[in-house]
Formats: sequence, structure tokens, C-alpha cells
Amino acid sequence: MFVPHVIAGRETESADGARFASVDPWTRRAWASAALAGPADVDRAVRAARQEADHGHWPRLGFAERGRLLHRLADLIVRDGEELATADTSDMGRPRHEVLTRDVPRAAANFRFFADHARLCPAEVFPADGGHLVHTRYPPAGVVAAVAPWNFPLMLGSWKIAPALAWGNTVVLKPAEQSPASATALARLALEAGFPPGVLNVVHGPGPNAAGEWLVSHPGVDRVTFTGESATGRAVATAASANLTPVSMELGGKGASVVFADADLAVAADHAAHAAFGNAGQMCLAGTRILVQRPVHDEFHRLLADRAAAMPVGDPRDPATRVGPLSSAEHHRKVTAYLAMAGHPLPATDDWTVPPALLTGVPPASPLWREEIFGPVAVIAPFDTEQEAVRLANDTSYGLNAMLFTTDLNRAHRVAAALRGGTVWVNCFFVRDLRAPFGGAGDSGIGREGGVFSRDFFTEPRTVTLAID
Ligand code: NAD
Repeated sequence: MFVPHVIAGRETESADGARFASVDPWTRRAWASAALAGPADVDRAVRAARQEADHGHWPRLGFAERGRLLHRLADLIVRDGEELATADTSDMGRPRHEVLTRDVPRAAANFRFFADHARLCPAEVFPADGGHLVHTRYPPAGVVAAVAPWNFPLMLGSWKIAPALAWGNTVVLKPAEQSPASATALARLALEAGFPPGVLNVVHGPGPNAAGEWLVSHPGVDRVTFTGESATGRAVATAASANLTPVSMELGGKGASVVFADADLAVAADHAAHAAFGNAGQMCLAGTRILVQRPVHDEFHRLLADRAAAMPVGDPRDPATRVGPLSSAEHHRKVTAYLAMAGHPLPATDDWTVPPALLTGVPPASPLWREEIFGPVAVIAPFDTEQEAVRLANDTSYGLNAMLFTTDLNRAHRVAAALRGGTVWVNCFFVRDLRAPFGGAGDSGIGREGGVFSRDFFTEPRTVTLAID
């Protein structure tokens, strides 16, 4: 299969015809080839987006009509769920039934939510004072460069572009080089839905000294929204800063699951297992540091280990599979190097799967505690007091999220207030309300998206002051 760029409403090869392969992590064979952008292709995509932003219909359509098209796109995403699931599973190995049952509905919901939110969102009017009426307008910023990771290609791609489009921007999306297919499929569906050419453009290729870098440093770009590793985020922010382009950064994490002795341990174990090992641990939100109050530590460890052992590992097309292969040979090498560092048995198979690993006795200074492994590898350790739990949970350069399990209402509020990070889940995990801010502190990012936080990033708010005679 060939995965083209989509530029100015047309599916296109690169100017020089260059391509790269996408390898299926389960078969370990190339299943598709994608167009490999050169600087001229990225420039063409930004110009197409610029043309539509400055002179086209999209920014001037109005919220109701744009909303109608975004809802139509959501309908088409649901219609083509099977094809989109094939794209993501073949590109990066995420279990197919999870793409179908979680990511496809979530991608559609992203477009529906931001279509409605932008249409219904009130703007400020300041009461006339001294003969002046002041109100705020939210015109689109212009051209948005969206750079996405491979771990939830469809879900995260749509999360990045839906608010940008709803607020009237045009977009150039660069998906990760490991997962190009669903982005092109999405741009195709946008055209079928009736989006004007140039509203949603997609270019393919890697990051450094390639499509990613050329896109985020392009002077024709007005906003950069980036999701990926913290180190990459630094490079992207540096490149964008040369043009003073505002950036929104959703970066890595090293989330904690904190389990108090009064928690419902079965519920906590269900969520902690999902948080640590779901999507083979390839989640920014992964809860990979599991802190358990001492009186229940051993019992909880057993419960969690049982759940981990019961997660079927293997073929991502088998509906029973919960843990598919890691996304690439290189990533598999990285994750198994951490297991070797821990003295943990290495996977017995020669494929790219890694069974869930729960490590005990790891000192807090170890890289296993501190670094984002991005595989199904978690550390578990006991704590005694609430203060110690908060100190350990906050002892990380990341600040994306934490999970807290307790049945004590006062403790839930106290600890949620004391934990660092953009999201705290109490007795649950991965529940998202798109009205709420999402993002991270420290090495986990810059800024927040969701609801009015997305509006504030993807628009150029303007104060209008009107004299009343
Ligand atoms: P990555 O940083 O390697 O790549 C992300 C994207 O950036 C890719 O499209 C890549 O091609 C591009 N890129 C790489 N170098 C670039 C450069 N110099 N300039 C411009 N673009 C460049 O990340 P990944 O391995 O694809 O994804 C995994 C990472 O993403 C993890 O760290 C994970 O925690 C993070 N992540 C964060 C969130 C969040 O919401 N905070 C969500 C998902 C993933």
C-alpha cells in the first residue's frame, strides 16, 4: 500500500518521488510505503494551508457550517473504523479491537466535541463603563503545525487537529514516521466530508533534519502543537522560537499510582494494571511507579501480578490480545535494555513483544524509577505515611499525571491537591472530559489543551473597545 501526502486537497508523491517503508511490528515486514517529504513538499503544504487561512473559505465559514463539516468527518471516521484500525494496528501494533472500540469513537468524539464547543463557547463582554463597551473576539491564529507521536496515531492526531480546525485554523499534520497511514486516511475523509482543499494537509517523514523540523521551523506557521518525547519537545521549542511561534507541548511522563490501605484493592489493581501495561506501556499517561501503603503492599502486589499475568500478549489482530508488540525493533531493544538493567528475565520470544514486568526492590535513584521506559515495565514499592507517598510521587522531573486510590474522602482531596501534575485520577484512570485542561508540568510539557484552553492557544484573542456616544 502507498501512503501519499495530502496537500491542497490532492494526494501526492514527494517532488523527488522518495518513499520510506512502514514496518508492521507483528509480522516485522514492510506493509506500506509512505511518501518521504523533502523541504519543498513541506513548503508546499504550508503554502496550501496559508492560502486557505488567508484567502480561503474555512476561517470565514462560521461556527455552524464548520461544525456541520466536522460532524460529517466524525460520521465518516465511524463509517471507516475498520480501515482506520487496520492502519494503526499495521503501523504500530496497537491491538486492533482497542483501536476499534476506543480510539475510533474517541477520534470521532474529538471532532464532535470541539465543533460544538467552539459554536457554543461564550465570549466575554465587559459592561459599558465610562461610555465604552469592551468585548473579546477569538479569530483563528492561522496555520497550525501539528506534530504527532506513534503511540495512539488516530486518537492523538485527531485530538491535536480538531480544536485547531473548529476555531477556524488550517492545519499541516505530520504524523510520526512509524505511523503514517491513519493521518492520510483522515485527510482523505475530510475531503470527502467537504472540507475545502488546503484546510487539512498531511506530510510524512521523520523529525530531525526532516519533515518535522522543517515544518515547526517554517516561518509560515502560526502555532505549533507537538506531542512526543521531552527531548524532542526541547528541539521543537527551540526551532519554533526563532520565529516566535507559540508552542503547545504534550511530552513524556512517569506517572504514579498511589494505593492507600483503605482503598478497594480489586478496583485499584484493575486500574493500576491498565495504567502500567495497557498499550504495552506505550502511554504518556502510564502509571509506571506504583506506591502502596505497607500494610497492603504484599496483597496488592499479588493482585496486580495476577492481573498482569492474565493479560494476553501477542498478535494485535487477535481480539483477546491486551499487550501487542512494541512499535519497532529499536524500541524493543530500548525496553529490553531496561529489563536487563533490572536483572529481570528477558522475553522468551524472538518477536517484539514484552510481557508485563513488575519490578521490586528498585532504589529510587535508579533510571528504572526515573526515566520514561515507554514499555510494559513498572516498579512497585511500599510507603508508610501520606506525606511520604506525596513526596515519592512528586519526586520526578515529569508532571503529567497521578492516580490515587483511597476510600477516604478527605484524603482524596488532600492528596489530589498535593500531587504535582496536570491530571489526577481518584479511583479511576484514563477518563477524559474534553472541557477540562489537559497537559503537564516540568518535563511533561508547556501549556494545556481542552475546552477554552484549546481556544486560547489556537486563536489570537482580540479586545474590541467601542465608544458609545
Ligand atoms: P518522538 O518525540 O520521538 O516523536 C514525536 C514526533 O516528533 C514524531 O512525529 C517525530 O517525527 C517528530 N520529531 C522528532 N524529532 C523532531 C524534530 N527535531 N523536530 C520536529 N519534529 C520532530 O516521540 P514518539 O516516540 O513518537 O512518542 C512517544 C513519546 O510521546 C513519549 O515520550 C510519550 O510520553 C509522548 N507522548 C505524550 C503525550 C501527552 O499527551 N503528553 C501523549 C502521547 C505521547
